[in-house]
Amino acid sequence: MKRRRMIYEGKAKILYEGPEAGTIVQYFKDDTTAFDATKKAVIEGKGVLNNRISEYLFGQLGAIGVPTHFIKRLNMREQLVKEVEIVPLEVVMRNVAAGSLAKRLGLTEGTPLPRSIIEYYYKNDSLHDPWVSEEHITAFGWASPQDLDDMVNLTIRINDFLTGLFLGVGIKLVDFKLEFGRLWENDYMRIVLADEISPDCCRLWDAVTNDKMDKDRFRRDMGGMMEAYSEVARRLGIMPESGQSEMKGPKLVQ
Ligand code: UDP
Repeated sequence: MKRRRMIYEGKAKILYEGPEAGTIVQYFKDDTTAFDATKKAVIEGKGVLNNRISEYLFGQLGAIGVPTHFIKRLNMREQLVKEVEIVPLEVVMRNVAAGSLAKRLGLTEGTPLPRSIIEYYYKNDSLHDPWVSEEHITAFGWASPQDLDDMVNLTIRINDFLTGLFLGVGIKLVDFKLEFGRLWENDYMRIVLADEISPDCCRLWDAVTNDKMDKDRFRRDMGGMMEAYSEVARRLGIMPESGQSEMKGPKLVQ
């Protein structure tokens, strides 16, 4: 069998050349990093859960007409996606003060924001993903005003939809990070949602107790990260019947 070509290895995923032109295989690792990858661990089974959770959320978003790169899940750790040109921005949507925003502006974590706020970070590891404004983005050409407009509109729709979806299963969507890509279809380009949506890149709090069900459990040494991610999957109704043990084996999931 011909060995497939690796295109890129990131902190939590590896991208391989897909079976057809214009496709990519996205492999979810168990590696977990925080604080610019200065803190690292391998959390067994995390990649399997993120693959399932992201598949589910991208599927739901696709069903309401949000264009995404997602094609299908291939197995426990891999999904087939469309090849896109990634816009070098992290688009963060916030509903409740937490993390870097709470720190920067001296807000108490958990304070609802007067309205939802979108922020942009320039994806550049050596610069530690600095916070940037729309002015920087268009002036340096990371995205055109039209691209930016599309990303903002999609982010607002995604936030409205996911806030309701999570609240329906007793989870508060505090904030999350999205990445977008340019998908070329002949001479026509459109902005689509790319990367992943999982507890690695969202803040998810239990709606009643405010218990953290996301990567903050790792960032803040709280423990119980797999249990929290499994609980998110279980509440979304996508946990395999037999529970977590099924997450580890080499068996293919249909
Ligand atoms: N986030 C992310 N990747 C990053 C930075 C942030 O997925 O490189 C997510 C993070 O999980 C949270 C949201 O974006 O849901 C806002 O993160 P914040 O700016 O508060 O930074 P943090 O406190 O995570 O450093």
